[in-house]
Amino acid sequence: MTPGHSDLWFLPLGGCGEIGMNMNLYGHDDCWLMVDCGITFGEHPEVHSLESRQVQMADPAFIADRQENLAGIIITHGHEDHIGALPWLWPQLKVPVYTTAYTAEILRRKLVEHKLDDKVPVRVVNTGDRITIGNFTVEWIGHNHSLPEPCGLVIETRVGNIFHTADWKLDKDPVVGEPYDENVYRGLAHREITAMVCDSTCATVPGWTDSEQSVQQDLTSLIGAATGRVIVACFGSNIARLTTLAKIAATTNRHLGILGRSLINTVSVATTCGYWSSADTLVERSHLAYLPADTLLLVATGSQGEPHAALNRLSRGSFRDLQLEPGDTVIFSARKIPGNEKDIDALIERLIGMGVDVVTPESCNSHIHTSGHPSRDELTCMYEWVSPEICIPVHGEKEHLEAHVEVAAEAGVTRKLLGRNGDLYFLAPDKGIRRGVVSTGRLGIEQKKLVRLE
Ligand SMILES: [Zn+2]
Ligand SMILES: [Zn+2]
Repeated sequence: MTPGHSDLWFLPLGGCGEIGMNMNLYGHDDCWLMVDCGITFGEHPEVHSLESRQVQMADPAFIADRQENLAGIIITHGHEDHIGALPWLWPQLKVPVYTTAYTAEILRRKLVEHKLDDKVPVRVVNTGDRITIGNFTVEWIGHNHSLPEPCGLVIETRVGNIFHTADWKLDKDPVVGEPYDENVYRGLAHREITAMVCDSTCATVPGWTDSEQSVQQDLTSLIGAATGRVIVACFGSNIARLTTLAKIAATTNRHLGILGRSLINTVSVATTCGYWSSADTLVERSHLAYLPADTLLLVATGSQGEPHAALNRLSRGSFRDLQLEPGDTVIFSARKIPGNEKDIDALIERLIGMGVDVVTPESCNSHIHTSGHPSRDELTCMYEWVSPEICIPVHGEKEHLEAHVEVAAEAGVTRKLLGRNGDLYFLAPDKGIRRGVVSTGRLGIEQKKLVRLE
């Protein structure tokens, strides 16, 4: 199965019909281009707890069998569902990797762990760059999301152009990075975009996703009113939220501390890349026990109830340098990822049992978390600005993909290709979809080796 010189194909191997493990292929003129190579957290069907969760990724067998026709891999941003599988799968793919500097730094650390840092050619690109990769010319478009340097891609070929949005939102005050520029997106309307392959995560959510800035105000009031320690749980990669909390620490006269490996790694990457300047003012772990409770603002991993994360250990009294006390406050500045509810609820029970005040996005009327993905009004704007011929929803489960095509149609883009992993989408010369052309599946990791999961 090889695309001819008048063909333009899209083939998702992961992330279409599900949220996680994104892996997309574009095919044209004997040549394939991969966009993103991420992981997801699977679950053993019989044991519903996080202990049983394991890292899983899309099986790349289709493209590994055609490795000589793969021109390169682009990583759109540094979230695990886009980058996490690369160190595991690169030995089967062996092609250059293209990404922005912040994402490259995240990748470099992963490659070191896998002893691949001197093997994988990583080409660092900037927003606005145009690079020819095989038979594709790719231009990087800067976005807003919840971490630095997320990018969409305009992928050009002789027979058609694609706008692959990856993850995005439209944020007038993103805290990290520049506000979005409507004109950049409007400019794409003049470039005859055949298909927009677009983020569906929040396509069922009406309105506009809150700005990162709007979270600062409400978190400041909550933290300002607290009398004991405040611990804010957020995603380990969310440098925007971390920056917001650093500002709040300054205005509420609290010392900022960071608890948990992934947050410490994020701060280290952000410091290296110039997105974080206050690493040296962070309170040291060994000082936590001695500082007065009302002078501490701590950011912790574990918002999803993960068993080994800092917040879980705090809730069990097994965090070496700190014991929570009645009157302390824990704020969940993250959404519940479906599937984690039981673990999160058990965590909250334990915290309440210790006399700790718990604030969740569901339990209060304040904005204490915002998504990094576009709600319906943002999708409408993007479809009106870019005006693609066809809408291709990805990065979502069935209900999100269906809601997405509805929004696109209301915005005037009525032509759609609605499929899932393993379907082959024809974009040129004819448009259409052939179901289940490629057998897809998942790989897991057992004793540091990849295994095919049934
Ligand atoms: Zn993302
Ligand atoms: Zn994503």
